[in-house]
Amino acid sequence: MTNQIKYNSWKKQLAGEFPLLIAGPCSAETQEQVIETAKGIKKVGAQILRAGIWKPRTRPGNFEGVGAIGLKWMQEAKKQTGLLTATEVANPNHVELALQHDIDIFWIGARTSVNPFAVQEIADALKGLDKIVLVKNPINPDLALWIGALERIEKAGITKLGAIHRGFSSYKKMKYRNEPLWQIPIDLKTQFPNLPVINDPSHISGKSENVFDVAQTAIQLKFDGLMIETHINPKDAWSDARQQITPDELQNLKNGIEIPQDKAFDPRLLKSLKHLRNEIDELDRELVEILAQREAKTKEIASLKFLENISIYQKERWLDILNKAKDNAEEKGIENLFIEKIYRILHQESLKIQHQVFKDKSK
Ligand code: PEP
Ligand code: MN
Repeated sequence: MTNQIKYNSWKKQLAGEFPLLIAGPCSAETQEQVIETAKGIKKVGAQILRAGIWKPRTRPGNFEGVGAIGLKWMQEAKKQTGLLTATEVANPNHVELALQHDIDIFWIGARTSVNPFAVQEIADALKGLDKIVLVKNPINPDLALWIGALERIEKAGITKLGAIHRGFSSYKKMKYRNEPLWQIPIDLKTQFPNLPVINDPSHISGKSENVFDVAQTAIQLKFDGLMIETHINPKDAWSDARQQITPDELQNLKNGIEIPQDKAFDPRLLKSLKHLRNEIDELDRELVEILAQREAKTKEIASLKFLENISIYQKERWLDILNKAKDNAEEKGIENLFIEKIYRILHQESLKIQHQVFKDKSK
């Protein structure tokens, strides 16, 4: 995918002052639910109505979407509100049916973008169409796979492309349903500056009460828009009941979100920012210096262990290092989990270095 193509023309045409807003239920359930939700989100100022027609469920036996009948309800909702319509397509048959019902925006879900065969089949079905196509990140944190899916769609001649960041599944117990791993969409934006990247705080947070915080972070990070699951009666939703919000709550979210006004920066603010950034740069330099010193010590320790024939990994010592770091961090008000992550990486690197020293010495 070249990064010269002007992907953002479609976004500029659609969005107003607020970033692009896509809202609507996780799944279309009834005609009334689709139309009432559409009217509600229209009032809030959303530009696009989303609804899942075919639902990829983790386990069989759950509600798997109403199917093509739901597309008729979306058509009706479009007629009554003027909203554009968006739905998930997971195979060429979905594309065909969505086309027949005049769906404006097709998105590829996280469980599909992970599979190049499936993405290619969809790309072939989309060939040459003048539609907006949004690609959700694959469920695993693999930027290349995400880019690959976007490239397949682009090669089919779709230029109105966009990406949706919906977080990454993890086996860890977490605050969020899907780990945001913000660095991945940021890297995508850095590589493809013109590609609109939309955040889906609903599937990241998994809980309606956390949707706002994720959305606010995304807007601070300059995402181009939000896709928010909205339902007239979330607690009775047939899928993702726990994370959907009402149109009124969507209005509150929109009112509460602060949009960074970069252009309005006054010179005094810029000066302070520059000063603070210089300080950060200096701290970062020191950080690397300390890491280099730590590596040197690790090598000395490895040499000693080699001489005395002591094994590299010492469980008690590792736990001792970790606990000391955590205590230290707690005193300084640094999050425990964050320190643990850093120390796991440090320890892994230290073991690698020590293995290398052992290898070199035994030559
Ligand atoms: C959805 O948008 O309802 C959905 C199924 O999302 P994802 O593919 O991100 O899980
Ligand atoms: Mn959903």
